[in-house]
Amino acid sequence: MDNKRIYLSLSEQSGFEQEYIQKALQTNWITSGRPNVDEFESVLENYLNEKSFVSALNSGTSAIHLALVLLGVKEGDEVICQTMTFSASANPILYQGAIPIFVDSELDTWNICPEYLEAAIKDRIKKGKKPKAIIAVHLYGNPYKVDEIHAIADKYGISIIEDSAEALGSSYKGKKCGSFGDFGIFSFNGNKIITTSSGGALINNSKELKNRAIFYATQSKDDAVHYQHSQIGYNYRMSNICAGVGLGQMKILDKNLDSRRKINSFYREIFRDIEGVNVFENINENYFSNYWLSTVLVESYDNITRESLRIAFEKANIESRPLWKPMHLQPIFKKYPYYGSMIAENLFKKGFCLPSGSNLSREDKNRIKEVIVNFFKNK
Ligand SMILES: *Cc1c(COP(=O)(O)O)cnc(C)c1O
Repeated sequence: MDNKRIYLSLSEQSGFEQEYIQKALQTNWITSGRPNVDEFESVLENYLNEKSFVSALNSGTSAIHLALVLLGVKEGDEVICQTMTFSASANPILYQGAIPIFVDSELDTWNICPEYLEAAIKDRIKKGKKPKAIIAVHLYGNPYKVDEIHAIADKYGISIIEDSAEALGSSYKGKKCGSFGDFGIFSFNGNKIITTSSGGALINNSKELKNRAIFYATQSKDDAVHYQHSQIGYNYRMSNICAGVGLGQMKILDKNLDSRRKINSFYREIFRDIEGVNVFENINENYFSNYWLSTVLVESYDNITRESLRIAFEKANIESRPLWKPMHLQPIFKKYPYYGSMIAENLFKKGFCLPSGSNLSREDKNRIKEVIVNFFKNK
């Protein structure tokens, strides 16, 4: 049998990417901004189907950074961030010289916990500083508790940056993720549900804010014939070539979403009769996940652990990975305040991401299934 490596999350091409790239080359728009970028933004704005304004940027990380800049986060300010996430959610807080305050997860969605969030806000206020923003993440495409989290943010008048990097296509109560926060962000990195090779987007709800985002993203050039700058600028705009890839990719977003959700059903089917392994599922129909990655929790017993299962996959040349290691346990972030208990930490100990790319073939699925079945049969 062909034993080529099965990766965690690979993207597919629609075939239309070439055309858009060609157009960019032919019209000589190979720099940042312009026709493909404008079109990509409007395709995304229509997709979100809300009063959403989209600025196409060169990464999800720069989108988070610009959201902090636009919210006026400065040195010494405090910003709350979900601990269970990828480091790119939290790094931009440090770019601004601000202080990250990490908050634990809850078990229904694995995302930021409303109780610990409120406890953190109260304690920070008591200590003398109201947090400037909250970064909440739809981890693995699974929506966080939008109503609860936003009610708390409103109560204290704190802005939300909705890290929707992994959640394009997910929704909560029928409304698309990315459009809930004061700012939302997407990532189009190569491993996400669609890609622009590298790229991201910032979503907000006014044309004026979008214009300011693009102003900062293109070196903060004041209105003058020479180059005049009165604010710090960034080189964060998406290129016209990358936007062309994105336009091609948007044509298969629905198909990718469908494949990823089918892969999730495939895993639920396999693990249904296996004791001690639970595939993450949305708690009710208010939560609609794109299942960017399918994830499981593995309870340890006998010689079964998350790590022994990972090694079994690795031996079969199949990539899998533990869940994100919480930020408050990371060497770079250890010294910052943390509110919570052991929820995220325990998820990290037991949790595991399975191959979920929309390109998985029937043969790939058979190989994956065989590893799982054999692994548990021999125990
Ligand atoms: C991928 C990702 C980002 C960063 O996006 P890039 O486009 O890679 O910069 C931010 N947050 C989360 C949760 C992500 O998964």
